[in-house]
Formats: sequence, structure tokens, C-alpha cells
Amino acid sequence: MQSLHYNVAIIGAGVAGLTAALVLAKQGLKVAVFDSQGPEKRSFGECVHGNIAPILAKLNLLEQFEQTGHFALQGYQIEWDGAGEYERHLLASPHGTGWILNRSAFDKTLFLQAQQAGAEIFWHARLHHLKLQGEKWDLVIKHDDGTHSSVTANFAIDASGRARVLTRKLGVFEKKADTLIACCSYFQHSAKHSMFAKKAIIQSDQYGWWYLVPFSSSQSSLCYFTDTDLSIPKSADALLEMANTHSALTQYLTACEPDKTTPFKIVPAYSSSLASYFGKRWLALGDAACSYDPLSSYGVTSALGSAFYGASALLKYFNNEPQYLGVYQQLMQARFLDFLEQKDIEYSKVSHYQSAFWQRRKVA
Ligand SMILES: Cc1cc2nc3c(=O)[nH]c(=O)nc-3n(C[C@H](O)[C@H](O)[C@H](O)COP(=O)(O)OP(=O)(O)OC[C@H]3O[C@@H](n4cnc5c(N)ncnc54)[C@H](O)[C@@H]3O)c2cc1C
Repeated sequence: MQSLHYNVAIIGAGVAGLTAALVLAKQGLKVAVFDSQGPEKRSFGECVHGNIAPILAKLNLLEQFEQTGHFALQGYQIEWDGAGEYERHLLASPHGTGWILNRSAFDKTLFLQAQQAGAEIFWHARLHHLKLQGEKWDLVIKHDDGTHSSVTANFAIDASGRARVLTRKLGVFEKKADTLIACCSYFQHSAKHSMFAKKAIIQSDQYGWWYLVPFSSSQSSLCYFTDTDLSIPKSADALLEMANTHSALTQYLTACEPDKTTPFKIVPAYSSSLASYFGKRWLALGDAACSYDPLSSYGVTSALGSAFYGASALLKYFNNEPQYLGVYQQLMQARFLDFLEQKDIEYSKVSHYQSAFWQRRKVA
């Protein structure tokens, strides 16, 4: 078993973990990132609004981002309460139009930037055990080939998304606002679907809602959001069949078939927050700190922002100014509470359907 020492050990190489690694390694800290998956992993979450630009600029990533060729997101085609379709244009929003991310390209940029800054990234490596011993953490990392590494670090970061592997091991209290899950698949279109290339489609139905996002001229992601205890599609074909019962979706789903290179997935999508975003020698970032309903299209921007502000606060901590960790938490919690209010308003607009899914979301 090898033994390694780092200033900071980060669990999770998603948007939050890689961005924090970039910020910290750039300032000369020795940083390791561990992820249970491989670099080829594909993450859902393509739509971002214009408010991602200021945070990308702070990270010096905006220029490269604009050259990567992400689609413009001009707005949403929405049918939200069974009352006909309407369009919500983003041009009139305070930050202007947004983007439909090519997530593979976006995630790869973050990975390469973090690596170039000097962070060490270990794939197929999951957190197995951790213990605070005096001034440092002892971590045991389990690799997919069955071997273990022993790692010590002065500080540990939970950036493992809703899995919250580090903070759950520490017993940090988490509050879930709902039990939303997403049934998702990627689709290949044989005909170019330029007609909806600049829009994402949102459609409510009796037991949840649909999200159809075209992220290249021949590919889209389709997700159905519902609750864990309700009836759910269990394969890409079942998902497509269900989607095709909705006229607003059918027009975009002709001549398409499931992308066989990426499996159908059922993933958690609930809104939630930790009671505390930091503690003795640990910090939570991105979805691990607070997770947003995908209806908000805010998860990726939040992950970037929380990594930037959280890592900046950690640099202050290493400079004997620990109070900035509290400032980071206040900033994140205030934004999350605003979002919860907005989420309740959006869901309570739907009164057309009477199922448990919508009843649970009625504001008393
Ligand atoms: C279906 C769906 C659609 C979405 N759509 C949008 C959207 O349109 N716009 C938007 O902005 N956001 C969207 N989101 C949210 C967005 O994807 C997330 O908010 C964002 O990816 C959070 O990034 P993160 O780095 O915090 O977590 P994640 O991206 O979840 O990364 C966590 C990482 O931790 C790793 N990990 C997990 N367990 C372990 C372990 N035991 N050991 C080591 N590593 C581990 C995982 O492999 C993963 O790489 C969507 C989410 C879902 C589920």
C-alpha cells in the first residue's frame, strides 16, 4: 500500500472538485482529486444561463469556453400546466442568453486545466475510510483493481455530488426538500434537428416533467423527472415510448434512437442542503454542499461558483484567516434559500394534475 501526503484531498472530480483543484493548485498547494469513475464519464446537466459567464471570467476560463463551440441557449419551449405551449426567451433576462454545454468538452477542459495547474487526479479511486488524526486526515482510497492507497492531507473536501461520501461518513446532517429522481438517456438523431437547436423543451405531465436538450446537431438528452415512489421508466426504450405519448415532445423525437454507447440511468435529482458547509478541516462544495432542482438550470453554475469561493476561502484559512469559510457558507446558503422559494413558486403554478407528485409540491 503506497502512502502519499497532500495539502488538500478532494473527493469527486466533477465540476466542483476539478474547479477547486485548479484554484488551489494554481496557488502552489499540493492537491489530489479522487473519483470513483473514469475520465470518460458523462454527466447530465447541459443548460446554463448567462450568469455562468462572470464566474468563468473569474476563473480565467471564459475565453476558452467561448471558443469551445457550445450551442447558444436562447430559451425554453415550455408546456408547464397542460395549458398549451409558450416560449421563455432568455434574451430579456438580466444575464442574456445562455449555452447548451457539450458536457464532455466542458468537463475535459476543467480536467486538463486542473492537471496543468499541478493537481494530481486519480480515476477509479473511491474514498473508503477517513479519520482525523490531530492536524491531518488519514484517508484510505480503494482503487477499482482492488488495491488500496493510504493518503494523508491537511484538509479534505467533499465534492462528490449528492453521494456526499465524505460528509456522510462524518455524520453531517443533510436536509432534503423532495425525493426527485431523473430517468435519463442520450439519443442519436438521424436527421439534423436544427429546428430546436437553440431551445430546451420542458413539458409537465401527470407524474412529473420532461426535459429534452439538444446538445449537438445530432444528439440530445432526454430526462423524465418524478418521485422515487412513483412508476418510472426502466429503460431508454421505455423512456422514449412514454415521451412519444406527448405531442409537444413527439415532433422532436421522430427518427431518433437511444445512443448505445452510454447507458440509460436513473439518478437522484432532489434539492438538498447540508446543515453546515464546513467543519474541522473539511469543506463541502457543489452539489455536496447544496443541490439544485434541474428545473433551475443552475447546478453547474453553482458548482463553479461554490468551488471558486470555497477554494478562495480555504486559501485564506491556510493564511490564518479561517473566518472566510463562514463567509463562503453564508453566501451559498443565502442563494440556496432564494432558490427554494423560487422552486416552490414554479411547482405550485401546476394545478392541472392531481397526482401525488404535484400534490406534494403545493405550497400550503
Ligand atoms: C438529470 C439532471 C439534469 C441536470 N440538468 C442541469 C442543467 O441543465 N443545468 C445545470 O446547470 N445543472 C443541471 N443539473 C445539475 C448539475 O449536473 C450538477 O449540479 C453539477 O454537475 C454538480 O457538480 P458537482 O461537481 O458538484 O457534482 P457531480 O457532477 O455529481 O460530481 C461528483 C463527482 O463525485 C464522484 N464520486 C461520487 N461518489 C464518489 C466516491 N465514493 N469516491 C470518489 N468519487 C465519487 C462522481 O463520480 C462525480 O464525478 C442536472 C442534474 C441532473 C441529475
